[in-house]
Amino acid sequence: MRRGGGGGGGGRMMDEDDRVEHAEIPTSFGHELRACLRCRLVKTFDQFRENGCENCPFLEMDKEDNVPNCTTANFTGIISLMDPSRSWAARWLRIAKFIPGCYTLAVSEELPEEYQGICQDNNVHYVPPKR
Ligand SMILES: [Zn+2]
Repeated sequence: MRRGGGGGGGGRMMDEDDRVEHAEIPTSFGHELRACLRCRLVKTFDQFRENGCENCPFLEMDKEDNVPNCTTANFTGIISLMDPSRSWAARWLRIAKFIPGCYTLAVSEELPEEYQGICQDNNVHYVPPKR
């Protein structure tokens, strides 16, 4: 992808690219919020169900049952990232390569083994939560 020079941060026009520039922002902050077990993106159940996870399209959350299996309602804290590649917090949380959006600080559950296999098949590195 082409990167324009002199990026002073902020106000960058979105190029007309197929790539998604940022994840959906949760439409509500109630108990229907879920976090992706692989990348920790936070959205509502319905958003995952309709559009899947922007970082993990291979988990196919728009298909039956993948949302409950690949996301959790059991997480603490939310951080919103606007420029993950320049954020120390994103590096610390190891989400610097993900697209801008809302993320949780930690999930306590592991992605089910079946889906870890899907990650491997897609050459995606999955980091299980520390215990
Ligand atoms: Zn994800």
